[in-house]
Amino acid sequence: MSSQELELTIGWLYPTLMSTYGDRGNVICIERRCLWRGYNVKVLPLDQKATADDIRQVDLIVGGGAQDRQQEIVMRDLQGGKAEALRVKIENGTPGVFTCGSPQLLGHYYEPGLGQRIEGLGILDMVSVHPGENTRRCIGNLVVEVTATRLAQDLSNMLGGTPYLIGFENHGGRTKLGKVEALGRVVYGLGNNGEDGTEGAFYRNAIATYSHGPLLPKNPFVADWLIQTALRLKYQQPITLSPLEDTLAMEAREAMFKRLKVNVIA
Ligand code: GLN
Repeated sequence: MSSQELELTIGWLYPTLMSTYGDRGNVICIERRCLWRGYNVKVLPLDQKATADDIRQVDLIVGGGAQDRQQEIVMRDLQGGKAEALRVKIENGTPGVFTCGSPQLLGHYYEPGLGQRIEGLGILDMVSVHPGENTRRCIGNLVVEVTATRLAQDLSNMLGGTPYLIGFENHGGRTKLGKVEALGRVVYGLGNNGEDGTEGAFYRNAIATYSHGPLLPKNPFVADWLIQTALRLKYQQPITLSPLEDTLAMEAREAMFKRLKVNVIA
């Protein structure tokens, strides 16, 4: 298939309610990397006006972070047919990147610092609890070695080395994983809870992480993994992406690793 025939629809969960700390950067990054390769790309907001049918037609899903109050509004809307459509999408392997507040809602529940427990969709076997307004938030740079087996393998094939992600976290909630696989191991920063060394989760083709919206611009190979996975699933063909000029992004990673004094061979 020629690149002009390829088409992707990015579903963006609640863009106005869930887009803290640059999370729209993830949408822009996927969109641009598709356009640079000549694919047709559409961004579909999956917000209060969207229907279950809208959710069913997306090829890739992006969900950002939110404050506790916004998370509650989202969960009041994401019920019934819409919740089911999202569950089926993720279970069927639609790739996605879910940041901070989004994974909290894909888990069993999120307990905010103030107020009532918000029931999640239970797609990811994990729970998140904010220990209270007086507890320190987890804020700062984050470096993670991807350990989720299949993703780690794919990314190391793309990179020719161990896949490290660089990002930035800002959350009060602490996440404890059940049986779901962690996305990776914290090399620098706090990750899921600052205690067990895990960061994020990986389920089917959904990447859940505490790393905010510069995640994909800072780690463009992850954006390409998402795009490639989405295209292969949609067209059922072994589509391989053409390379893009990523020298600056890769040099920026090196600079951050040096600045944080983390010894990674990336
Ligand atoms: N409200 C959640 C927390 O503080 C998520 C915050 C966010 O998405 N940045 O843990």
